[in-house]
Amino acid sequence: MKLMTELSDKHYDVVVVGGGIVGLASAYAAVKKGLSVALVERESQNKDASVRNFGFVTVSGQRRGEHWQRAMHSRNIWAEIAPQAGIEVEHSGLHMLIQRPEAMSVAEAFLKTEMGESCHLLSQAEMNEQAPYLKEGLGVLYSPHELRVESNTAIGKLAHWLNQSQGVDFYNKTAVHSIELPVVHTSRGTLHARYCVVCSGSDLHSLYPDTLAQANATLCTLNMMRVMPKTSFKLNAAVMSDLSFARYDGFAQLPEAKGLIHLLDDIQPAERKAGVHLIVVQSLDGSLIIGDSHDYSDKELPFRDSYQDDLILKEFHQIMNVGEVDIIQHWSGVYPSAENVVFKASPEKGVVVGSITSGTGASTGFAFGEELINLVLESK
Ligand SMILES: Cc1cc2nc3c(=O)[nH]c(=O)nc-3n(C[C@H](O)[C@H](O)[C@H](O)COP(=O)(O)OP(=O)(O)OC[C@H]3O[C@@H](n4cnc5c(N)ncnc54)[C@H](O)[C@@H]3O)c2cc1C
Repeated sequence: MKLMTELSDKHYDVVVVGGGIVGLASAYAAVKKGLSVALVERESQNKDASVRNFGFVTVSGQRRGEHWQRAMHSRNIWAEIAPQAGIEVEHSGLHMLIQRPEAMSVAEAFLKTEMGESCHLLSQAEMNEQAPYLKEGLGVLYSPHELRVESNTAIGKLAHWLNQSQGVDFYNKTAVHSIELPVVHTSRGTLHARYCVVCSGSDLHSLYPDTLAQANATLCTLNMMRVMPKTSFKLNAAVMSDLSFARYDGFAQLPEAKGLIHLLDDIQPAERKAGVHLIVVQSLDGSLIIGDSHDYSDKELPFRDSYQDDLILKEFHQIMNVGEVDIIQHWSGVYPSAENVVFKASPEKGVVVGSITSGTGASTGFAFGEELINLVLESK
């Protein structure tokens, strides 16, 4: 990738601030409209939520309506771009093991909605063939939409492709300090643009803090692990459990979910309190990323509680029959969280700030990037 070592005196149509998935998606949306784009990232490359996530592009489970549609649209863009950008889709689809009658009621209700149209319950024979590593349950809800990419490399590959094939200029190790269009003030000098889109992720304080305060977001910290099974196996689709039916809005906001939520609050209080639910995805080397927990205290502390990992591992072994695993990596990540799933606003003419406030940017970022570009073009 060719990074701009000197600030250009070129006048860009759009300067995008932030090299996470939302910034990259906004850059792509602008390029598709024929606009010239510069992307400014303060680090050598993104080191935040966009590279720390599961790379789990999830459709089923996203909040019903507009957000579910964002996810479906974004998933289609991932599928189109990934091969061009050299990004491997490691597996697709989702298996949700149903362990309790209350979860079965949620799955059945979901299947009757428009969100469940292409999803179905696996037959016993399908379960044996497609997910032999799942423990016995009442059934498996299958969704075909999901994609899994390796985020910690996919984000760099996407940036490289935008640079090499789509003509986006990248200014890394460059922090944007303020915007007075047509001038964008950075730590290395000035850039010029007609429009500016700010996608600063969980940094709610540096640029337009008053505008971002309207998002009413707190910072949510998540614990994640990479484990290596002692006996190797191939995961055919991402895996989730009953806890996810009680957590993901697309399921949990269905009236039929009330019974499951009460039950899990009763029988798995520690998991519910720590915001633990289970996502399992696999990398090409056979290792699994498993998580996660959710701490909404806004503290964003560097210390991680091991009991949360214990809860995640307990749920993992509860539903998967894959023997012992070695934990080979731990990490945490942060995203802004609010009642509304996204926040976008135009604090002044030609400028838009946008943030995904539901921890779903890998799944919905491409659609959201298009919305930010449309909004900024209307803002003049
Ligand atoms: C542990 C974890 C697991 C997750 N799992 C999933 C998942 O499975 N599926 C899913 O859909 N979503 C998931 N998410 C959520 C998803 O990762 C986020 O919603 C998404 O990455 C947010 O992207 P972003 O571009 O807004 O922010 P970020 O990735 O935080 O990027 C913001 C960028 O802006 C840069 N920046 C900020 N201020 C400036 C400035 N002034 N000048 C220059 N640069 C600046 C930062 O350096 C950073 O690179 C997860 C999140 C976490 C933390």
